[in-house]
Amino acid sequence: MSEETQRKQRIRLKRLVMAFAAYVVCGTIVWLYYLTNQTEQTHISEIAFATILSLVMQAGFYLYMKQGRNLKFKDPSLTIQQMIPGFIWVTYLLSITQSVRGIVLVFYFVILMFGIFRLTAKQYLALSLLALVGYGLIIAQDVAAVSPHFNLTLNLVQWAVLAILLIWFSYFGHEVHELRNENKVKKSQLIRKRMEIERQRDEIHRTNNELQVVLSKLSTQATTDELTGLANRRHFIDCLQPYLEQSKDDSEFSICLLDLDHFKQVNDRYGHNTGDLVLKKFATTARKCLRKNDLLARYGGEEFILFLPRADKFAAMECAERIRTEFGKVIFHEIEESPSFTLSIGVTLYSSNCDHQKSENLIARADAALYNAKQRGRNQVILAEPAVNDNFAA
Ligand code: GH3
Ligand code: MG
Ligand code: MG
Repeated sequence: MSEETQRKQRIRLKRLVMAFAAYVVCGTIVWLYYLTNQTEQTHISEIAFATILSLVMQAGFYLYMKQGRNLKFKDPSLTIQQMIPGFIWVTYLLSITQSVRGIVLVFYFVILMFGIFRLTAKQYLALSLLALVGYGLIIAQDVAAVSPHFNLTLNLVQWAVLAILLIWFSYFGHEVHELRNENKVKKSQLIRKRMEIERQRDEIHRTNNELQVVLSKLSTQATTDELTGLANRRHFIDCLQPYLEQSKDDSEFSICLLDLDHFKQVNDRYGHNTGDLVLKKFATTARKCLRKNDLLARYGGEEFILFLPRADKFAAMECAERIRTEFGKVIFHEIEESPSFTLSIGVTLYSSNCDHQKSENLIARADAALYNAKQRGRNQVILAEPAVNDNFAA
């Protein structure tokens, strides 16, 4: 049994106890009337029977519900199933009492109150018919018996009042029932809407996540060189720009342009795929020679550019030299003959005087140094100071 069903069962049993209390109150009223009004023709055995009947009925319903057997019914509260015996019980009380009938009639309405949220108009009318036919038969029987205590006019008035009240109650009960149904429909519509909103929220969340993934992929693609995994030229310039704008003093950072020597021959001799392999190997080798904040990018083809923050000319030359040496040591086992390759590097320092916070002059100076290195026989690092060029290594 689910937690919700258990909760509802508890409410049903509580309602059953309330119904039992109503029976006790009604029974007590009849007993009191019997004990205080000895002129009444009622026999004690009849009242005792009615009392025992109510106890047995309620105990039966209690046990039935306690075992959960009520759950198989469309209305597990067994409203109509409890009300029919209740109505029969009240009709029986009417038949064994005479002067107290006006009070006993009220018991019908006590029972009807228990069905106020559940019964349909038809069920109300059926119960009303049961009560009216029952009471009508009792009146007919009393007329036939010609009892001296029987007051026909009073009973007929009572019967008419009962009929009017029952019809009114049926209409009222039907209205309450409809209102409840409307509320139920609205509630289930609300639940459905809430579920739909939750589904849409999940969908948006999922789409958002997918979008994030695509965006991060796109951003990676936009900033990274596919072959080497290094930053691309555009990203390099974007990263350099803030340094150019912030640097007021000279020599705050250095730039190197690196170009693999005779790379065309590598392609021609070993094929384009091997050329790619050499480029990739260069990228991993150079990266190992760098600090965390240094930025190496593929400038284009077999040309790379390196940004060295807080590196003066000595530090920059030393770094470039380290890359040149390390790359020269790489042995390509994948290539027959295990050749080694070389590269030339042009180094320059930032100068606020010459560069005016622009990258063009700075890169042009590094390019000039690189050109110089090529001219001087390749496989070397050349420094181009903002004013004079200086050969450093060979
Ligand atoms: P130098 O020493 O003067 O720099 O000579 P070089 O042959 O390296 O220079 P050049 O500019 O004549 O040739 C560069 C070659 O690099 C030509 C081009 O096919 C090759 N290349 C450019 N990009 C790639 C690439 O992504 N993969 C491969 N395998 N080759 C590339
Ligand atoms: Mg080259
Ligand atoms: Mg080149």
